[in-house]
Amino acid sequence: MSIDHSARARMALKVDMVIIGAGQAGLSSAYHLRRLGLEPDKDFVVLDGSSGPGGAWQFRWPSLTLAATNRVHDLPGLKLKEVVDVDTGGRVPASVAVPTYFEAYEKTFALLVHRPVHVSVVCDRGDRLRVETDTGLFSARGVINATGTWETPYTPDYPGRDLFRGRQLHTKDYHGAEEFAGKHVIIVGAGISALQLLDEISSVTSTTWVSRREPQFRDAPFTPEAGREAVALVEERVRQGLPPASVVSVTGLPVTPAIEAMRDRGVLNWLPMFAKITERGVRWQDGTEIDADVILWCTGFRSSLDHLAKLHLREASGGIVMAGRLATQVAKDPRIHLVGYGPSASTIGANRAAAAAARELTSFLRVGEKSSP
Ligand code: FAD
Repeated sequence: MSIDHSARARMALKVDMVIIGAGQAGLSSAYHLRRLGLEPDKDFVVLDGSSGPGGAWQFRWPSLTLAATNRVHDLPGLKLKEVVDVDTGGRVPASVAVPTYFEAYEKTFALLVHRPVHVSVVCDRGDRLRVETDTGLFSARGVINATGTWETPYTPDYPGRDLFRGRQLHTKDYHGAEEFAGKHVIIVGAGISALQLLDEISSVTSTTWVSRREPQFRDAPFTPEAGREAVALVEERVRQGLPPASVVSVTGLPVTPAIEAMRDRGVLNWLPMFAKITERGVRWQDGTEIDADVILWCTGFRSSLDHLAKLHLREASGGIVMAGRLATQVAKDPRIHLVGYGPSASTIGANRAAAAAARELTSFLRVGEKSSP
């Protein structure tokens, strides 16, 4: 199917389903729809806003090597190591290895991802959903949303933010520690990324580490049971319509050899969050001040769902009530599945959730081999 730009003003291309996003969650969803007998560019289309394959992985900072990730789980049907030499390739930036893998994956399963195609609005047109994009309109009976979080960095608002004469940036815009040499950097956040960047930056310059909540280090090994428990806690929240919690808020911070080494280097001196930002740095409630040149906000991301706003899926609590076997189905509108949201916001979670979403949506729409009467 070539997207007929000339028709964009008049008609919407009719499909059964649209998958929005071609990262881990979107590709896994497309794979499972194919397995259920549906054909890309006939029964469903995959639309991705990025210009290249790899989802958010293509934008990760260069020092985040494959070996330094919390593991990139295989997509169904084709293992990472069948495409990337994970032994020597462990030192390869994830931003190179994972896009290479995803590109091979898309070709292997002929998933026909349309990119770059940005979905601006999904709205309800009675028995169908109108999907508006910068390259044309689609009319779908169901949507699998797999847009991740990378497009929605979260930076909390603190008094004095606009006064600061130094530089402020979010994890999303971090490209390496070297550029901070000779500067004093305040690192805000207690997640895994904050610790990774504290480790890198404290190796080239002086740092101060702060966060709202005291970091909870976990010495015990992160067993598969601990992983399942963490996912279950996040799943419980989204089934109640609460905003998904960050995974690390339920798992705690694993004490890795890198953390031990930081302890030995004396850089793990955590401080509570400052009260305000000044022209030269930050100030705590008790008047203590620290001058700084950079504030690096490692304060996470939010789900990129603005394009679904017209469907009014959110509760007053800010979350979306999720249902279905793995909490991918939007309870308010079973035509919509969110994969890579809440409990499935990880590579392994995205895989499992995608299989459930594909099965539940095809059976709800009564399409695909296993669902038609
Ligand atoms: P993404 O990979 O973000 O893909 C979403 C896709 O949707 C993108 O291609 C984007 O262009 C597209 N998109 C977004 N909005 C639109 C739109 N409106 N229209 C069209 N397309 C759109 N998880 C792990 O399992 N292991 C790790 O080691 C790990 N490390 C991480 C490190 C960092 C710094 C971060 C932020 C997250 C990490 N995660 C990790 C979580 C990781 O994001 C997920 O595991 C996984 O990559 C998310 O896949 P996804 O498909 O849900 O989203």
